[in-house]
Amino acid sequence: MQYYSTNKKVPPVSFEEAVFQGLPEDNGLYNPAHIPSFTPSFIKDLKNRSRQEIGLEVAKMFIEHELPETVLQEIVSDTLSFELPLASVKQGIFALELYHGPTCAFKDVGARFLARCMGYFTERRGSESTILVATSGDTGGAVAHGFLNVSGVRVILLYPKGKVSAIQEAQLTSLGANITALQVEGTFDDCQALVKKAFLDKAFKRKFNLTSANSINVARLIPQSFYYFHAVSQLETSSPVYVAVPSGNYGNLTAGLMAKKMGLPIARFIAAANANKAFPDYLSSGLFEPRPSIQTISNAMDVGNPSNFQRIYNMYNGDIDAIRRDIAGFTYTDKQTREAISLVMKEYGYLLDPHGAVGYLGVHEFLKDKNGVGIFLETAHPAKFGDIVSESTEQSVIFPERLSNLLNKERNCVPLPVDYNRLKEIVTEVVR
Ligand SMILES: *Cc1c(COP(=O)(O)O)cnc(C)c1O
Repeated sequence: MQYYSTNKKVPPVSFEEAVFQGLPEDNGLYNPAHIPSFTPSFIKDLKNRSRQEIGLEVAKMFIEHELPETVLQEIVSDTLSFELPLASVKQGIFALELYHGPTCAFKDVGARFLARCMGYFTERRGSESTILVATSGDTGGAVAHGFLNVSGVRVILLYPKGKVSAIQEAQLTSLGANITALQVEGTFDDCQALVKKAFLDKAFKRKFNLTSANSINVARLIPQSFYYFHAVSQLETSSPVYVAVPSGNYGNLTAGLMAKKMGLPIARFIAAANANKAFPDYLSSGLFEPRPSIQTISNAMDVGNPSNFQRIYNMYNGDIDAIRRDIAGFTYTDKQTREAISLVMKEYGYLLDPHGAVGYLGVHEFLKDKNGVGIFLETAHPAKFGDIVSESTEQSVIFPERLSNLLNKERNCVPLPVDYNRLKEIVTEVVR
């Protein structure tokens, strides 16, 4: 499979090239040249396949012969080594719990897949590479964990100071080894802008074999489509299925749209956003207007200029009516998010995190005047946002051990002003 840039000013590349380049040199994003389709019999038979078997079939469609099947099978099995259960919240609404991985966030899936592909390619190439990642919280922890001790790969993370939770910060700064965390005096958008600048700096990029690992990397995107197939495989229904995706940078939603185009019967998606609502506003006005990010309690979704907009726009050839047919947009305030956490606990005994709560609100509102089954993605473990969750539910939250252990570990980070030259100096020092 070839991958093309959404700006179409550079030639298409192989999967391996797209993985290492991260961002094409024309400042676009890589998309698969076409979205492959499954046969109806494969879709019908999903329920008889394990999540790893499904993942392998999806991965093969996008990667074809670039990785030997036995290697790909191992990578997929390892990526999906934890469960992705579909929990019933109330009549007709299910939570797809994506937080059972090592860092308790859905980003574990993409990060583990990318790390394992890159580790394999790096070994085959006999070279070294440096991963530069901007994180609004969860990406960094998942990436750092995914790559920890992968030889030949150095990871440098940029995160906004004071804008990630204590647990998230511990996840970013406690690993050591081949992982370095930079604490940026700015917002997530500043972090993302610094990283973008580095990737557009050809000499610098080449010198350090810079590559990305956030949701713009295709090897993060592809495995995120696995769990939509796995979710539908767990449902026994003949009603239309609607899926709400609590969204920030829109990687998850893009992967869901890919799964739908491959033949997965999802009637429509719900883009559920917090106050950062450039995408829902685009659906209603037809104008995409990026803005500075606004801080909310669902902070992993605080993205004012979602990168994956370009991918979605391209997948639909800019046809906004087609985009509207597949996606409905909803936005919620922090107050509504807290109320949802409280209500869902009180009425149904199900504990939401603030991101999942935005998804729940979306699917709940959408289904008000429709028949159908709703799924929302539960993207983070509620304990990661323990203060908000326990305030809203008036109950304390039990930490899974893999999180509570983190708080006792030694932490290390390097302060970084929003200054590109300083970033270059630090990278040079760290990689040497
Ligand atoms: C990253 C993240 C999101 C948003 O996902 P996108 O793919 O960026 O839209 C939602 N919830 C949590 C917990 C996240 O970490």
